[in-house]
Amino acid sequence: KNDDNLVLKAECITKRFGGLVAVDKLNINVYDGQICALIGPNGSGKTTAINLITGIYNVDEGIIEFLGQPIQGLMPHSISWMGIARTFQNIRILGSQTVFENALLGKGYGNGGASIIHTVLNSASYRREVVASTKEVDEVLDFVGLSDLSNEKACNLPYGKQRILEIARALITKPKLLLLDEPAAGLNSQEIQDLTELVKKINKQGISILLIEHRMEVVGKLADWVFVINHGSKIAEGTFDVIKKNPVVIEAYLGR
Ligand code: ADP
Repeated sequence: KNDDNLVLKAECITKRFGGLVAVDKLNINVYDGQICALIGPNGSGKTTAINLITGIYNVDEGIIEFLGQPIQGLMPHSISWMGIARTFQNIRILGSQTVFENALLGKGYGNGGASIIHTVLNSASYRREVVASTKEVDEVLDFVGLSDLSNEKACNLPYGKQRILEIARALITKPKLLLLDEPAAGLNSQEIQDLTELVKKINKQGISILLIEHRMEVVGKLADWVFVINHGSKIAEGTFDVIKKNPVVIEAYLGR
């Protein structure tokens, strides 16, 4: 693999919370066009790693490069503007707003808290933004298969479609790298199948993907490359077919 094709390079990244080393000298490379998965037991540091990449936390040590540019220390909105989008482990949609409005929130405000979002929704600049991006939102909702539900209140959507709406909101920023934190959590088997197909379709648009996932059938179907972490450190990496037979991985995670 050539470094020129690197979308994300996290080198030796470390994050401590008091005495706890949540992420410990972790190396992660995501190459152009890849779908990579981050797997490991609960509390092993997966979400913290995503929070470091997206600037929610600053690394204590190590470097993070996105398309060859260092991004450690930048604010989350700057990182989002550079082309890294994400979804969260716990669903973050505004139930009383429509599908369209929720998707629109990706436009520059994707990482904001709900209070910021409410301010934006009620401001004049928000209304200008609506005019500017209606077409983009329509295109993304069409792409993810939610255009028929555009005017529906988000709370009326089945859970699986709410999760897809969050992905739509992330896609509004036109990312080069999409980080998905447990996208299949809580979904039924039909919803998982829809999600899997959507992730492949997104990837075919040239968007690289790094996902945290506990459902091994999803990892097996999607991931070109898998990182296994335990206690904040990488214990194995490789194709799913290889790492699933690795005794160290079975002992730490898969055998449970
Ligand atoms: P995973 O996503 O693999 O379940 P996390 O990254 O959420 O793991 O957590 C890794 C470790 O860091 C856990 O022990 C967790 O309790 C701790 N941790 C995560 N975020 C914080 C925080 N903001 N403050 C203190 N400890 C945290």
